Amino acid sequence: MAASKKRDYYEVLGVDRSATPELLKKAYRKLAVQYHPDKNPGDKEAEEKFKELGEAYEALNDPQKRAAYDQYGHAAFDPRMRAGAGAGRGGGGFHDPSDIFREVFGGGGGGGSIFEQFFGGGGGDDDEPAHGENLRYDLEITLEEAVNGTEKELTFTKPVRCEPCGGGGAEKGSKTVTCQTCGGRGQVTRNAGIIMMRQTCPRCSGAGKVIERPCRVCSGEGRVNQKSSVRIRIPAGVDTGVRLRSSGNGAAGVRGAPNGDLHVMIHVQEHEIFGRNGRDLTCEVPIRFVQAALGGEIDVPTLTGKARIAIPSGTQSGSTFRLKTRGVKDLQGGGQGDLLVTVRVEIPQRLNAAQRAKLEEFAGLCDENVNPQSKGFFEKARDFFK
Ligand SMILES: [Zn+2]
Ligand SMILES: [Zn+2]
Repeated sequence: MAASKKRDYYEVLGVDRSATPELLKKAYRKLAVQYHPDKNPGDKEAEEKFKELGEAYEALNDPQKRAAYDQYGHAAFDPRMRAGAGAGRGGGGFHDPSDIFREVFGGGGGGGSIFEQFFGGGGGDDDEPAHGENLRYDLEITLEEAVNGTEKELTFTKPVRCEPCGGGGAEKGSKTVTCQTCGGRGQVTRNAGIIMMRQTCPRCSGAGKVIERPCRVCSGEGRVNQKSSVRIRIPAGVDTGVRLRSSGNGAAGVRGAPNGDLHVMIHVQEHEIFGRNGRDLTCEVPIRFVQAALGGEIDVPTLTGKARIAIPSGTQSGSTFRLKTRGVKDLQGGGQGDLLVTVRVEIPQRLNAAQRAKLEEFAGLCDENVNPQSKGFFEKARDFFK
């Protein structure tokens, strides 16, 4: 099992299990600088450490993944524990740590929240074919797009089938021959102390066959990195954290094995007017204090245009009014949420002499019954005013 030899993520980052996200990030930054491939050219061990670090950080930096890891350990991300047999592997793994690196260090700058990355792949069962990796794409959309649904063209670089060799990995005229190292079995046995261990053949990577002369374009891998575009439909009702799967649009499988999937992680941008709480949209609307006192009708924005609502006289600041079905459609088809409008009573900030005089006149007409809340409060707090 690949999972059993993995190091504990907290140990990898050198932090306590109770470490705060800030501390995690700090620890990650420090070690990532130390093991970054640019600083350790050709050093395989540093490269492995760097990858391990990225994997650990990605898992612990995400509150959901961290909770799952705390509960189940590495099994939380083992695709074999979740997807049933035949569902294929990949999907639970991690992307290229250099992408997290970019994220943490803010490199690249300017609109760089979209990044594509690889995860999955390695660590599966030794005798499975080299299924293409699942890819992850972080997509930022507006609230309007999330509410109404949209279509997006995603462009990113991924491994695709190498055309010159048809994905076979062999140079023209070159034959595929049985691997000498494993005798075509794809596995070799190794003496590990008392027990014999079966291992994927390092020469043919389990295929049992090797190519006489590898394709010059792909060095025999059968695939090359290429810019690709995929059009995906974003259904109405998505929210941050929703993951859409585009089947078969991940990395090409090695030598004819099935492609991986593309996972699109949705991030909904903050809106300047509307907030969101599940299926409900929220909105704060300022109203004049005279309006609040007298009551009346006010115009409020909705995502589909303005609406008019009646507010009763004596409306308090912070009161919320519900506009039915002006919220977000349920992704699972369970109806539509509402728009919750919270009013904020605005107190005039600059009064001219005439306004001030009128307000003072008004104050003179008020007894304590005009403001029952103040009355109640001062009655309760009476003892503290002695
Ligand atoms: Zn072999
Ligand atoms: Zn090729």
